[in-house]
Amino acid sequence: MASQTYPGLQGRTAIVTGGAKGIGAACVQILAEQGAKVAILDLDYELGNSLAHEAGSECIAYELDVSNSSLIREAIRKITEQLGLPTLLVNNAGIGHYGTVVETTDEQLDRVLDVNLKSYFFCAREVVPHMLTAGMGSIVNVASVQSFMSQKRVAAYCASKAGIIGLTRAIAVDHAPSIRCNAVCPGTVDTPMLADAISELPDQEAILQECRDMYLTKRIAEPMEIAQLVTYLLSDLSSFITGQAIRIDGGIGLEIGGSV
Ligand code: NAD
Repeated sequence: MASQTYPGLQGRTAIVTGGAKGIGAACVQILAEQGAKVAILDLDYELGNSLAHEAGSECIAYELDVSNSSLIREAIRKITEQLGLPTLLVNNAGIGHYGTVVETTDEQLDRVLDVNLKSYFFCAREVVPHMLTAGMGSIVNVASVQSFMSQKRVAAYCASKAGIIGLTRAIAVDHAPSIRCNAVCPGTVDTPMLADAISELPDQEAILQECRDMYLTKRIAEPMEIAQLVTYLLSDLSSFITGQAIRIDGGIGLEIGGSV
């Protein structure tokens, strides 16, 4: 049951990419609780479909690779037929990749940019005309603290996440006042992506502890904490916020080193 009410979402059609797991799944859950009709776009149909069933009759999972612009066009056509004009979009699907610029191949760079950045562009391109027809729309792009700072050996990921901030501003500028577009920039979140990232490493608990210690909060985020910010930005509660990149990062990187 929803503990918070987010005005302006009831009865509207929302699309969540990468909505089967992690942050996306938490967004789907809150949006459904708020009475939105939700389309989950994900590679993982089994998980997406079971989440859609839990969320209720007005939630549908669509299986596709969001890096393919023709598949996105076709999915959004079906969503419009089945759930109505989409006026809420959460661009969230993403993949990680480890490598410096020297270590990253053309194929790896292309894949990271295709999934993490170009899919956000493709979805916006298909959804914005519907939002303009409806005279309203809100887009939230899930970026990262790595849009602004970089851990070691994540060159392609950082480039993709920084690109999302530029795309967010461009959409906000081009399509105001009817459409608002913002980015959320999480620090480390306890999701399957994090579990996958450390799955091959020895002593995972020590790595997680080191990670928690980097945050002023001394912990990492839960997916729901990110989803609450996403939902706030989709809703009428944030009606004067557009073109922004909002960090939700436990204050990482603020503290100057040393004990005095
Ligand atoms: P996750 O791996 O737990 O879930 C991502 C979902 O996206 C999965 O359901 C996956 O099947 C789907 N997906 C991946 N590639 C896809 C594709 N090509 N087409 C369709 N679906 C696809 O990830 P998460 O941690 O929930 O991350 C969500 C977003 O948040 C990503 O953009 C990620 O970069 C960002 N983010 C995550 C963290 C973190 O620590 N987990 C931190 C900052 C930003």
